[in-house]
Amino acid sequence: MTTDHGGGRPRAGEAYDTGCVVVGGGPGGVVLAYLLARGGARVTLLESHGDFNRRFRGDSIAPAVLDYLHTLGLADEMLETLPHTVAGEFVWRAGGRAYVLADYRRASRRYPYYALIPQARFLPFMAEKAAAYPGFELRMGARVGRLLRDGDGGRVNGVAYTEGGVTRELRARVVVAADGRNSKLRGLGGFTATELGAGLDVLWYAVPRTPEDPPLSGLQLVTAPGALLAVLNQDTSWQLGYLIAAGGHGRVRERGVGAVVEAFTRELPWLRDRLFSLTDVNQLTLLPVRITTVDTWYRPGLLLIGDAAHVISPVGGNGINLAIADAAATANALLPCLLDPASPAAALDAACREVEAVRRPPTDREQRSQRRAERAAAARLAKGTTAPPFVFRLFDRVPALATLNGRQNASLIRVPSPRSEILRA
Ligand SMILES: Cc1cc2nc3c(=O)[nH]c(=O)nc-3n(C[C@H](O)[C@H](O)[C@H](O)COP(=O)(O)OP(=O)(O)OC[C@H]3O[C@@H](n4cnc5c(N)ncnc54)[C@H](O)[C@@H]3O)c2cc1C
Repeated sequence: MTTDHGGGRPRAGEAYDTGCVVVGGGPGGVVLAYLLARGGARVTLLESHGDFNRRFRGDSIAPAVLDYLHTLGLADEMLETLPHTVAGEFVWRAGGRAYVLADYRRASRRYPYYALIPQARFLPFMAEKAAAYPGFELRMGARVGRLLRDGDGGRVNGVAYTEGGVTRELRARVVVAADGRNSKLRGLGGFTATELGAGLDVLWYAVPRTPEDPPLSGLQLVTAPGALLAVLNQDTSWQLGYLIAAGGHGRVRERGVGAVVEAFTRELPWLRDRLFSLTDVNQLTLLPVRITTVDTWYRPGLLLIGDAAHVISPVGGNGINLAIADAAATANALLPCLLDPASPAAALDAACREVEAVRRPPTDREQRSQRRAERAAAARLAKGTTAPPFVFRLFDRVPALATLNGRQNASLIRVPSPRSEILRA
């Protein structure tokens, strides 16, 4: 590996190589880089992987985010060109009956549903849109390993990244860490992350979907004896989740994959022919669920967004939505500073503080609601009850509750509208 300490240095007469470095090409980073570039800023997006292929990630785009993408002029093209499925309801099956617990038909006038679009399709779509703007630069296979700081070692003013075995430095007025749940930059920046505790882990598996399969809502949970199953409609496949008590992966290994196959086959017998392919526990992908908060989202020159700032549980499927809402708030706050070369560091600091002030309250609310839902689900798993809880029967009798719940879930996301006219279609 060689190190190029010269190539990334500011050019004569220019203090920085770029206005903003965004680290991490997940939904938070890609959407932010797109917004900044479209707003006229210079932005470099660094992604450690060589492509956007990823499986079993949060990909349920909420009505509020679809509305936001519509304001940008992107939603209709995205929905027309990217294969996806829509889920108008969140359904929980228990005791042989289906209970609609959230109905999204009143959650948006234009897009009254969650759109399930794999990140492997959504991210290249957004990156391609961003590439239309001259200020945008994307470096794939570029892994950030170090923060650069001012002479006095205080303010962050860039990153060192390794790409193709070569390490380069890139100076920027502000660094945004959108590098996910195990954020390297969160550690390098000295942030304190606190685990709020999660009661569940998920084991994922996918099987092909056929036209003969029942027309289930895209978002389903099923209570099975001793297990909770998630069934997500992913267009050409079913994404199947086997939810277990946190840390229970070892027990699943001991019991063998047969118990998992049996649970799915019993509850979803029409999948029997495809579940034959599941013969080994190692075919299951473990998502250790975590709910994490950090002391602050900001240190001078460095802002955390998305999972880097707040790991959330897949309960509610809102990780992608919170990351995009963070990106929207960050673009609103940073663009005026990035477009004005004379704006002082103090203005950037204030902009980053604004992002946390706007985004932390809805994020905290979402995490609180996830912890309640997780605790309840974990308690039922521990007891082994399969009977529907009383509240399900209430939802059954009063359908308005599902509508209210759908509107409330969707409103928790709170995507800030674009402030800059350039961002409006
Ligand atoms: C394995 C996994 C499974 C998940 N499953 C689900 C699910 O089933 N349901 C659900 O709702 N949510 C799920 N989530 C959460 C959901 O995908 C996230 O909440 C959402 O993607 C957050 O977006 P983000 O942009 O903040 O971070 P991410 O999507 O995690 O993106 C971070 C990006 O940063 C890049 N990166 C990391 N370190 C560096 C570095 N040093 N330099 C450069 N780039 C770097 C990574 O390669 C990645 O592309 C899952 C997350 C993970 C990691």
